[in-house]
Amino acid sequence: MSRQRSPETSTSERSARAPAGAEWLLPTYRRFDIEFVRGAGALLWDADGNEYIDLLAGIATTQLGHAHPLLVATLRAQGERLWHVSNFFYTEPMVRLAERLARRSLGGGVFFCNSGAEAIECALKLARRARPGGDFVVLEGAFHGRTFGALSVTPQPAKQEPFAPLVPGVRVAPRDDPEALRALVDERCAAVLVEPVQGEAGVHPIASEVLAAARAACDEQGALLVFDEVQCGIGRTGSLFAYHHEEVAVEPDVLCLAKGLGGGFPIGACITRPALREALQPGDHGSTFGGNALACAVANAVLDVVDDVAFLRGVRDRGERLRAGLASLGLAVRGRGLMLAFEIEDAPALVERALYEQRLVLNATGPTTVRLVPPLVISEQQLDEALARLARLLGG
Ligand SMILES: *Cc1c(COP(=O)(O)O)cnc(C)c1O
Repeated sequence: MSRQRSPETSTSERSARAPAGAEWLLPTYRRFDIEFVRGAGALLWDADGNEYIDLLAGIATTQLGHAHPLLVATLRAQGERLWHVSNFFYTEPMVRLAERLARRSLGGGVFFCNSGAEAIECALKLARRARPGGDFVVLEGAFHGRTFGALSVTPQPAKQEPFAPLVPGVRVAPRDDPEALRALVDERCAAVLVEPVQGEAGVHPIASEVLAAARAACDEQGALLVFDEVQCGIGRTGSLFAYHHEEVAVEPDVLCLAKGLGGGFPIGACITRPALREALQPGDHGSTFGGNALACAVANAVLDVVDDVAFLRGVRDRGERLRAGLASLGLAVRGRGLMLAFEIEDAPALVERALYEQRLVLNATGPTTVRLVPPLVISEQQLDEALARLARLLGG
């Protein structure tokens, strides 16, 4: 029986294997031959009982680690009460989450959806409402998602070209040139989209001068500044939102969230400034599952833990510990908080060896980049143990 598996692993003598039935999944991802069955905090166990340290967190989503007691209790309690009633009605978890997110960020309104790409779609439609027919400016290396609108503002030929034609009118600015960015934003521009810390590109914090230039250009031209914090939001960089960080200090008009917001439960949100609260009217946009009670209850519990000064200080402290540990291995580290990356020759090979030889879950965002986005609750001891395993890999 033929299975979708990576060529490297199929020739090795590892016990790892894909589960029976794996061939029924479309091969849109190159999966490792590991089936995880259980998790607790920053640890994972596979079907053979092997224990792993998780430095990926479901791609920066399980902020509180696996099976966090508060999230489990919240999901169970909400599950026994009410799941979903549609957006024709209100539920308490939905309204409470909207108020908390708006008060802690831009102060306007919140649209709920189920993923990052959908949060971006909402931002694009908002921008088109504010400037009919307007186009979009994005930064080189950006990743905003896989749906057609989000893909259209994701300037990566390998991802875009097979699916052309996309939404026209997207202009790409270099990610480190404030003047070039300013020059691209004109009176046709509906929105500038920026990840304050680019994630999929390999963890690149955008310089504050570039963010300030984007803000100034949007103000001059009447365009919206959209921050895509799908990956870098919800405590990931050591502040609740990346734009709260003192190294950013620029406020957007629209904020997109997903990934960490649900701690592993699917939810996305698009948040506006007060002036944009009425931009989308009934019938303009929607999402059947958006704002469902289960997702909103869990997201409220995530905020209960993450939106806390001591918790966020802990993220910064452990981020510094991880950064220092990586640096002491001779690696050039970049990133912020617990969103870090380093460059190394053949990153995919290192990630694979880390997984099978050291039971360390990492991710390569490109041929030479290894990304580390552990659960925000990972302990100092677990970080130190992960660094020791990495040291063994690099040494041997
Ligand atoms: C993951 C990601 C997205 C897309 O989110 P999905 O939930 O996969 O649709 C968008 N923007 C950024 C910055 C991301 O990291």
